[in-house]
Amino acid sequence: MTLRSDAFIDGQWRAGAKRFKVYNPANQEVIAEVPDLGAAEAEEAVAAAHNAFPGWAAKTAKERAQIMRAWFELMMADIDRLARLISLEGGKPIPEAKGEAAYGAAFVEWFGEEAKRAYGRVIPTTTGARRYVTLKQPIGVCAAITPWNFPMAMITRKAAPAIAAGCTIVLKPPHQTPLTALALAELGEKAGLPKGVFNVVTTENASAVGKVLCESELVRHFSFTGSTEVGKRLGALCVGSTVKKISLELGGNAPLLVFADADLDLAVRGTIMSKFRNAGQTCVCANRILVEDKIYDAFSKKLTDAVAKLKVGPGDQEGVEIGPLIDQKAIEKVERMVAEALASGATALTGGKKHDAGKQFYTPTVLADVTREMRVNTEEIFGPVAPLIRFKSEDEAVAIANDTPFGLASYFFTKDVHRAWRVAERIEAGMVSINDGIFSNEVIPFGGWKQSGLGREGGVEGLDEYLEPKFVNFGGFA
Ligand code: NAP
Repeated sequence: MTLRSDAFIDGQWRAGAKRFKVYNPANQEVIAEVPDLGAAEAEEAVAAAHNAFPGWAAKTAKERAQIMRAWFELMMADIDRLARLISLEGGKPIPEAKGEAAYGAAFVEWFGEEAKRAYGRVIPTTTGARRYVTLKQPIGVCAAITPWNFPMAMITRKAAPAIAAGCTIVLKPPHQTPLTALALAELGEKAGLPKGVFNVVTTENASAVGKVLCESELVRHFSFTGSTEVGKRLGALCVGSTVKKISLELGGNAPLLVFADADLDLAVRGTIMSKFRNAGQTCVCANRILVEDKIYDAFSKKLTDAVAKLKVGPGDQEGVEIGPLIDQKAIEKVERMVAEALASGATALTGGKKHDAGKQFYTPTVLADVTREMRVNTEEIFGPVAPLIRFKSEDEAVAIANDTPFGLASYFFTKDVHRAWRVAERIEAGMVSINDGIFSNEVIPFGGWKQSGLGREGGVEGLDEYLEPKFVNFGGFA
């Protein structure tokens, strides 16, 4: 497979003086070495984006959309290579990686089209002497830092609306999965993105590059997807230094509620989709499964049977549904959380230990008898472990669901339409999915309440993140 392994700044492929290794999480083999750039190169990339901004912003939305359409089509034509790359550096099974590549490309298609409709408003006047309008203008140079769990989609969810709006962008991809980011830059170059519009600064020194992106006077918008801990720190740095606009997509602790009136087979399928996608390593993965007492035994039996059948192995092996975890730290965290739960009285109905497919594989697990105090309930697990918690009433289920500082995704299963409305309104989360374990796409506003973030990605809201409203008063009318 051909792959780009140099960084991309101002339309130039840059080798860098130092390089770092990118590993395949399935077998710990080195896939490539990429440049380990620092603050100086980050500043160069910001300057390139700054220089490119006036020209790019001056293009019509239609001109930008034509280039973005070409970028999208190149991604779709190259979907098999992109999927192999996502799977190789990120670990997810090939069919899932292909799904991510199509999902990632869809942001480029959709935002290219949507930016043609970045309308302002005419506001009815309060006096005959004035006329009021608002404009929406591209915010300027943007910077983005993204995580490894969606090596492609977390980038296009930011870069596509920024570029479509007329902004330019500097991206710092994660050290685990920089190769997909570089493949996107390569396809963008082929599609005709002018130099400096999309820049990729690879590094193993995230804090040095991050500091430049957060504190630079030239950067007007900073978008981050990753952990709440790092997001809070970088958000504070952005606001404290230059009061730049920030968008934060942070951690979650998604509840999935199964009511006694649910279709249990649908609930099991939905739980598997939500909990075990990317081996449990997505921010919208159901973290804790709340099950009504009356159907607890029936549901846990069906779920356990289905989870025990999930095929574990390297992402490129036929039929595999659960790949490796991203690194050694991730596997140790899951082992520790499960061991603590078992020591505090939880029971493993299936799994509960590492898997013999390799050093970074964990066996898909269902834990019964989980209590609200256990860390598997209070913290994001980020692994293929489904903790089951029993509830007796709708009020209790909602109280447990909301008992967290996070509020990203939430799910519940019921056939009662009134309960569906009631519970959807009562759950404190940016996204509620009813009778469905998967919902992300380019047209919806994706984002969190509480400590899960600020702002939205996708949908019309996603474009607004990169546009500044401007109010204009026309005075002097007689
Ligand atoms: P992370 O440690 O916060 O890393 C995310 C990104 O931040 C990486 O690019 C990382 O770079 C960079 N980074 C880390 N420390 C930094 C610093 N001091 N300065 C500047 N950049 C820094 O998160 P993760 O563990 O990789 O990702 C998992 C988390 O992301 C989970 O909590 C998950 O819920 C969240 N997430 C949220 C969403 C959402 O939409 N809300 C989507 C996906 C994931 P390096 O890789 O080079 O260290």
